[in-house]
Amino acid sequence: MFHHVKELQFNARVSKPDPRFARLLLEQFGGPNGELKAAMQYFVQAFGCRKPYPDKYDMLMDIATEEFSHLEIVGATIQMLLTGVNGELKNAADESDLTKLLDGKGAKEGYIHEALVNPHFFLVSGGTPSLTDSNGNPWSATYIMGMGDITVDMRLNMAAESTAKLVYENLMKFTDDVLVKETLRFLMTREVTHFQMFQAALDSVQPNFPPGILQGDPKYSNKYFNMSQGEDFSGPWNEGKTSEMGEDWQYIEDPYQHVLDTNGLLEEKAEGTKRNEKSVQAKNKALSAQRKTQIDKATLPSNGEIRWSIY
Ligand code: MN
Ligand code: MN
Repeated sequence: MFHHVKELQFNARVSKPDPRFARLLLEQFGGPNGELKAAMQYFVQAFGCRKPYPDKYDMLMDIATEEFSHLEIVGATIQMLLTGVNGELKNAADESDLTKLLDGKGAKEGYIHEALVNPHFFLVSGGTPSLTDSNGNPWSATYIMGMGDITVDMRLNMAAESTAKLVYENLMKFTDDVLVKETLRFLMTREVTHFQMFQAALDSVQPNFPPGILQGDPKYSNKYFNMSQGEDFSGPWNEGKTSEMGEDWQYIEDPYQHVLDTNGLLEEKAEGTKRNEKSVQAKNKALSAQRKTQIDKATLPSNGEIRWSIY
């Protein structure tokens, strides 16, 4: 169950209204890399972990709930940045509270002009945040990624934390308000923290590569196809050992000739690897059985009743 407390996780403040930045900040409220996306992604992924991985369930729910707290901070900040817009809609008199908050009547006119960069604030949402990105596109569940495989989901979450972090980094360039910057820096930092949590959780599942269960075909797993002409570069992505499986990279200088020579790769040979078809099939079988047992043991009812919680 959820239980709300009214104090924000971080003491978010703004120095003065700024409807232009409020619009930009919508990107982290209802945008594809925003806080609602993060919250919902981890919340939805958590269901599949509840029984087989109670430790990962605990972590996902803690982080999902923190992301909801971030969503609340972003929404509150947008609301503070829109101070006055709501009142303006209801108050035609010149001497409104807004005029006092800003420096005189001219500043108020400038403020209203700025607010018009997002007409939604005036025309639709009545001076409150709406669940859209900074261009007004409605939030979408298509932003959510989750595959029901712990090794895949943790990697998806590390990607989500990376993109969220970068959007905050970019947003910080567009405000001079030191109080807003302070909040953005907190939110940005927490994404860095979460990245490490997901990385550590991934590392705690062994083996975790390749993602999922089935092993790659040793004929193709360490081949680098030189698919473009012009200046070629080498690096750990095509020479030495492969990063996860420790096979020797095989550089195919002329992929077209290679495809012709191998009957379209059907006659490809496994080279630079200790793996072979027999060892791969054995590993596929063993890992399938291990994961199935883990999940069955945790999820199949023993007494005819399936329950989620014990009180
Ligand atoms: Mn966050
Ligand atoms: Mn995060």
